[in-house]
This record gives sequence, structure tokens and C-alpha cells, in this order.
Amino acid sequence: MTVKTRFAPSPTGYLHVGGARTALFSWLHARKHGGKFVLRIEDTDLQRSTAESINAILEGMTWLGLEYDDGPLYQTHRFERYNEIIQRLLEDGLAYRCDCSQERLDRLREGQMQRKEKPRYDGHCRGRKIDAGSPHVVRFCNPDTGNIIVNDLVRGKVVFHNNELDDLVIRRTDGSPTYNLTVVVDDLDMGITTVIRGDDHLNNTPRQINILQSLGQEPPEYAHVPMILGDDGARLSKRHGAVSVMEYRRQGILPEALLNYLVRLGWSHGDQEIFPIDDMIELFDISDVNRAASSFNTDKLLWLNQHYIKNDDPARIARLLSPHMGELGIDPSVDPPLVDVVAAQQERAQSLVEMAQISAFFYQDFEEYDETAAKKHLRPVAYDPLQRMRAALESLDRWEPEALHQAVVDVSGALDLKMGKVAQPLRVAVVGRAASPGIDVTLHLVGREACLRRIDRALDFIQKRMDESAS
Ligand code: GLU
Repeated sequence: MTVKTRFAPSPTGYLHVGGARTALFSWLHARKHGGKFVLRIEDTDLQRSTAESINAILEGMTWLGLEYDDGPLYQTHRFERYNEIIQRLLEDGLAYRCDCSQERLDRLREGQMQRKEKPRYDGHCRGRKIDAGSPHVVRFCNPDTGNIIVNDLVRGKVVFHNNELDDLVIRRTDGSPTYNLTVVVDDLDMGITTVIRGDDHLNNTPRQINILQSLGQEPPEYAHVPMILGDDGARLSKRHGAVSVMEYRRQGILPEALLNYLVRLGWSHGDQEIFPIDDMIELFDISDVNRAASSFNTDKLLWLNQHYIKNDDPARIARLLSPHMGELGIDPSVDPPLVDVVAAQQERAQSLVEMAQISAFFYQDFEEYDETAAKKHLRPVAYDPLQRMRAALESLDRWEPEALHQAVVDVSGALDLKMGKVAQPLRVAVVGRAASPGIDVTLHLVGREACLRRIDRALDFIQKRMDESAS
């Protein structure tokens, strides 16, 4: 039988990292077994589902590269089919109409709470014949006795007793089907073999199995994956930082880094940390996922991101970096070529946002010197070396890294100074900070005109300091 998994988000917000991890696990399970992966949009809650959210989910899936073989399928397109099944259950006596008033249900609930019983519907309408034309809900006739055993691929054997369940509503008074019914019908019609989802749905599983069995069908396999916690142990939410997949994109995270991070949240393979997609597909096994919840660790995500930034093709990183340069008001299509900037900075940034920030000086004059760097390197002793550097640079025929390096060596030699004593003031003059790629590459990419202009600015800066201390 072909393995078929699905990701079934409700479009009521952005694509959450927890959802993305569930999607990744489902996708990996399908890919590993040469199966199919379906995207199903569970949009039956008309009040809370939005078109923006659907777009955000599709955008997130595309950005992560979790391509689906089928879908997106929309539950709102399938009401006729759900009603057909509800009708069948009604006709077979496996579901019934219920017109219990809210007051009655409230009273029932209060009594049960007072007696410290679990609140559940008492089956009052089971034998009653309620006219289809009058307002009613439809309830599934849950078996009263027996157990349901779920052999969960993650949690192991989980046993539920039918006497803990009640006759759940499968169609509301307004005619709309409820979650447990639609999921069962869809998983069945789509031939889903393995349901991988958050463990907040574990309690729905016995209900879904009962409905499936009443339709004469065998349940699929289930894998309920634990939730993701924030660093304080509470369920991961906005107050812990970014939770939306697209927010990570805005923060300059590469999709492969986020996927690598998510696959390791609750799953491991020895002590391996780096999992390019192909490794994940080969090594991932849903039954190796931990039962316990895992905590989100942003530092680790950044560490992985740095790894992928460092090791990827500069041309690709340049394409991904480009919009982040745009955010800073820089047009990355002008000189120097962005790909050369990336090659120079690839080892130095944990995110594309950081890379954009530390690369802005290649394209535009910086506003202010970093205070510590200026204090340390733009001192009166640096005036002469800088002035000589300026002259040496101005007279260069070729503005190439090798010649630029030689100029720094020559000036240091002539002044009998260590190279750093010349290169550091020069770097702060040109970059505004004490850190940048090699001075030769930096000068080369910044270009002659901007370098000379910035050295003049640094000379003025030092001169002013000298004037101030003299007065
Ligand atoms: N639509 C449900 C949710 O977003 C998932 C249902 C399922 O996977 O069975 O939580």
C-alpha cells in the first residue's frame, strides 16, 4: 500500500513553527517511503478561517520547500460529501438528531460537575424521533462499552474506554459538519495511511476511530507528536519571540536551517546535528520521535543558520540576501557585485539580516563610527599612517586586492610599524567598525573613490580630536 500522509492546518492564523514541524514530519514520512503527501485546508470554521491565513500557509510551505503531491484541498468544497456520510450514519441508526436545548445541556453539565463526574452528553435523544425539519444537531452514536486501542507510532499503546466518551455532535444546527467528522471522511476518501499530527489531538483519535469503524473501515496509523515549548517550559507562543514561519524568513533565516532545526526538535540520529534534506529523508523515522515535549532554542537555530550560510553557494545566498539589503535602502544591483560581498562575509554572519547590516558599508557611507573602535584606532598616532595610506592608495594603478595588500605592507614597512597599526585605523576609517573581511578585499570592494573619501573623513575626525585636546 502506498504511504500517504497529510498536513491539515486550520487557516486561522500564520503558519506556526509547531505546524511546520508537523508538516515536515509528515512530508519526510511520505518521502522516505516513496509515498504521497497531501495538503488539506481545514476551513470549515467560517468565522475564524481567512484568505490571508490560507495564503500564509501556502507561502510558508513553498518557502520551506515542503511540496505536496495533492492539494491544497479545501474542506469547504466538500460539504455535500460530509452530508452524504452523515445521512448514511442516520439511516443506519449510527447517528441521531438531537434537539436538547442549551438550558438542558447546561443543567446536565452542572449536575455532573457537582457530582464530580466528567461532563458528557447523556444520550437523551438517542431513541427519540426528531423531525428533520425542526432545528437540531446530529450526534454520533458512540458505543457504550469496550476499549479503543491506539498503537501510536510515537506514544506507543494508548487505551481509551468508550464509557469515557459521549455522543459527539457531528453536524451543528446551522448544518455545518464538525471537525471529527470531516477529518474522518477526508482521511478515508484521500486514502491517508498515516496520520501525523500534534498530540493535542490525541483525545480526538478514539472518537475518529469509532466513526471510521461505524463506516466499516479500518483506522489508519497514528503518530501524535509532542508540542514545542518556549525556553520557560510554557507552550511556545508569540511572547517567546517569533513563532510564524515567515517571520523567520524576515529575520534572515534560511529555509534549510529552519527545517534542520525543526527536524531535530524531538528527533535525533546519534549525535549528528547537520541534516541536509536528503539526509533527513534517508535517516528520519517517525517512531524515533521523542514522546516528551522539546524546547525551542533560538541560539541553536542561529548556529545552524550560520552553518548553512557559510557552506552554501554565494550566488544563492546573494539572491536571498538581496531583499534584506533593500530593507536597508540599498540597491544591491550596483557595484560591488553582491555575490563578491557574500563571498567576503559568508563566515561572519548568523543571519541574512546580520549579513545585510554588516555589509551596508560596501554600498553607502556609514553614519557614525563605532565608539569603541574610533576611540581605540582613530587616535592622533594614526594620523600620519592614514595620511600616507591615502597617498599610497591614490597613486595605485590597479585597485586590486593584491596591490592593495602590498600598499598596506609598504606603508607599515616605511613607518616601521606592525601591519595592524596601519590596517586597523584604515579599516575603521573605511568601515566604521573594527571588524570586516580582510583589508585588501574590503578596500577592493568599497572602491577607490569611497575609500579616499572615507579616509579624508577619518583624518578630519582625528584632526578635530587633536584640536579639541590642544584647546
Ligand atoms: N486542523 C487541525 C489543526 O490545525 C489538524 C487536524 C488533524 O491533523 O487531524 O489543529
